[in-house]
Amino acid sequence: MKEEIFERYIQAGKVASTILKKGADMIRPDASLAETAAQVEQMIIDAGLGVAFPVNISLNESAAHDTPSPEDDRTFRTGDMVKLDLGAHLDGYIADTALTVDLGDQGLLVEASVAARDAAIARVRPGVAIGELGVAVAAEIGSRGFRPVANLTGHGLDQFRLHMGPNVPNIGGIGGAVLEEGMAIAIEPFATTGTGYVSDLKRVEIFSQQSWKPVRMPASRKILSEIEPRKGLPFARRHLKTPKPDLALLRLVREGVLHSYPVLADIPGSYVSQSEHTMIVTSDGCVVTTA
Ligand code: MN
Ligand code: MN
Repeated sequence: MKEEIFERYIQAGKVASTILKKGADMIRPDASLAETAAQVEQMIIDAGLGVAFPVNISLNESAAHDTPSPEDDRTFRTGDMVKLDLGAHLDGYIADTALTVDLGDQGLLVEASVAARDAAIARVRPGVAIGELGVAVAAEIGSRGFRPVANLTGHGLDQFRLHMGPNVPNIGGIGGAVLEEGMAIAIEPFATTGTGYVSDLKRVEIFSQQSWKPVRMPASRKILSEIEPRKGLPFARRHLKTPKPDLALLRLVREGVLHSYPVLADIPGSYVSQSEHTMIVTSDGCVVTTA
């Protein structure tokens, strides 16, 4: 990896890490989800970075992809298990990092995903098969009496690309892609009291452009011109200025122009924790950019 690219990853990571901690301090009973998301995103912009994806604030059995709707009036409540996941980028080089705030009494579940993340990070070095990281994740979570979420993974990162190969599994396996020096990857174990599988909810707030073919409907064109500067990075419904965008969003998804990210949740009544860092693989290990 070129030095100037490495430096951008490091800079984005530093900013993201600081803002994640500030965001976590805002998560208290009766605080507003919408206000928290808006302030976290504003902090990223004020730091001179780009918002790599809408701040995800996912509650309890929801693991990921929730973010406030345009009319969201939810507040945090005592007992909530809150995942705060943010992305900041510098010239497209992304820091993706997440933590869990427990407003209840489930410290062990939070600890499980943190310990799993750190155990996986300790194994990162060139030549390591990615299945080995999943083994470490599953062992830490399982030893605390929880399940890892099997169908969520960490991922590689590249300029303006949030998710690309290799996928970093959260369950044990053999082999898989082999880590190479210079790779940027995010490791993000999820620990759950539920089934260990998430499925799509009906709620969809986050989208990204995946095809650049021409569209006709005026509202669709308006949305696409609004999101053009995102270069394919995800955006939220609440970010749009286009009035009443829902029908156009639906059509754009159906036409394959937009990808939608439904909220991903384990079974009702369960709790999910998440912990995530971004890192660059170096000759003898890795540098965690979001530490
Ligand atoms: Mn993330
Ligand atoms: Mn991620």
